[in-house]
Amino acid sequence: MRTSKTNQSEWWRGATIYQIYPRSFLDTNGDGIGDLKGITAKLDYVASLGVDAIWLSPFFTSPMKDFGYDVADYCDVDPIFGVLADFDALITRAHELGVKVIIDQVYSHTSDQHAWFAESRKDKTNPKADWYVWADPKKDGSPPNNWQAYFGGPSWQWDGFRKQYYLHNFLISQPDLNLHNEEVQNALLDAARFWLDRGVDGFRLDVVNCFMHDPALADNPPSNLPMEKVSRSFDMQLHTKSEGYPDTVTFIERLRGVLNEYVGDRFTVAEVAGTETLKNQKLFTQGPDRLSTAYSFDFLYRQRLTGTGVKNALSKWSGEADEGWPSWAFTNHDAPRALSRWSNGANSPAHARLYLMLLLSLRGNVFMYQGEELGLPQANVPFEFLQDPEAIENWPNTLGRDGARTPFPWTGDDIQAGFSTGIPWLPIDPRHLDLAENRQKTDDSTLHFARRAIQARQSSPALRRGDISFEIATEDQLLFRRSLETETIWCAFNLSDAETAIEPTIPAHAKCILSTRSTSGEAVDAVSGPLAGYWWRA
Ligand code: BGC
Repeated sequence: MRTSKTNQSEWWRGATIYQIYPRSFLDTNGDGIGDLKGITAKLDYVASLGVDAIWLSPFFTSPMKDFGYDVADYCDVDPIFGVLADFDALITRAHELGVKVIIDQVYSHTSDQHAWFAESRKDKTNPKADWYVWADPKKDGSPPNNWQAYFGGPSWQWDGFRKQYYLHNFLISQPDLNLHNEEVQNALLDAARFWLDRGVDGFRLDVVNCFMHDPALADNPPSNLPMEKVSRSFDMQLHTKSEGYPDTVTFIERLRGVLNEYVGDRFTVAEVAGTETLKNQKLFTQGPDRLSTAYSFDFLYRQRLTGTGVKNALSKWSGEADEGWPSWAFTNHDAPRALSRWSNGANSPAHARLYLMLLLSLRGNVFMYQGEELGLPQANVPFEFLQDPEAIENWPNTLGRDGARTPFPWTGDDIQAGFSTGIPWLPIDPRHLDLAENRQKTDDSTLHFARRAIQARQSSPALRRGDISFEIATEDQLLFRRSLETETIWCAFNLSDAETAIEPTIPAHAKCILSTRSTSGEAVDAVSGPLAGYWWRA
């Protein structure tokens, strides 16, 4: 069944996409872990935000060592999340509501519990012997080269069956697939077809930078980072040999070919991290035959938000011919929530609205993360409750990812926040109860502001797809124009908590269409104010 609800071309360009972390959205069976039925039950809420699509983090069969980013079967649902029929129900309901569904695909590595790995590790001659990255030890038994893993320590693990090392860029239990091998590519493309046949509208592709490496396995050069900036051995090298091998493009083009077999415009967003991030993001999204967009890391780990920083990040994507399309996120399941990073601990609704409005002003796709619309601060997760392997391995140097992954607070009157009748897999931060969805029913709530801002972006072609040009970009002030054909939106922000006048040279007839300073949606004329954002249409 190769059909799509939409034939509308490039529906995704400028779209607002809402990321759902399935473990933490809604638990319907009381095991303390969110599930697909829970997501379906809350799709009306998601649709009421006005977003174009959801991105679901992995829900596939997995031993959950990396909470689903360690896939043991690409074509099935893990029992903790439900069954395939639950996914079908989810997608049907989403499409009824006009919401598209993007799912995560993790092609760089599998779980060590995947049947492919069990076969591959048996010996050096089995049919899948070359499906993973195997290499002989050096004469002294040490690993083939100096590559280091993201989650700490060397990226090579000795395997007694094969008497060889295998590569893992993340956990030891996440062996790296050998995407240089065409059979592996074919198997992954079949997995893509499996989900496209079920009606998904596109994919978020995990760590595309890790798809292929230098086949000669040359050492990575040192990064020469000062020791005070190093927390993992990984930080001490540039990953120019272990990642981003140019042949990645051949696989990307094959994948795009598969997407093109389907009716409608299927979307792909690449997560491209690593050493040569921008270069690879542009390479993987260049022209019509590669990926739709690449997901930027510019704001995810930044400790301060400044006007100059925003201008610099946006200016990397100038819109020249053949250039791909950017995507922006301030927060996701891997990064500490932006509100807490940027507000100096204030975590106020004014900060939350300012950041939401700024994100929704940018040229590119907007990725919002569950709870951002409520203005949730980073949750406090005490060491004894940590679940994230990266956090446990590197604690206390890096706090890890659990603080952004705690359950969504639906009701403030229940100690488990209406998320589960059981004990949630991560504790609920009591501060989140006051910000629960059922406590944000009035017009002056952050949630209602988020809805107004999303919907204003949706109804403005200039905000969705227009050009961007900066008039003012200082530490604390930002003024830029978004224009498409006859519409221009002037976007002004005072990022500081002091009163500063922004003096935009905007046409006198321009009308304010949204402001963080207004509680009920009506236009305001003021052009100053602490932590303020304005959109004027001219
Ligand atoms: C995902 C992480 C995951 C890693 C390994 C990513 O970048 O977003 O959550 O741990 O890839 O798959």
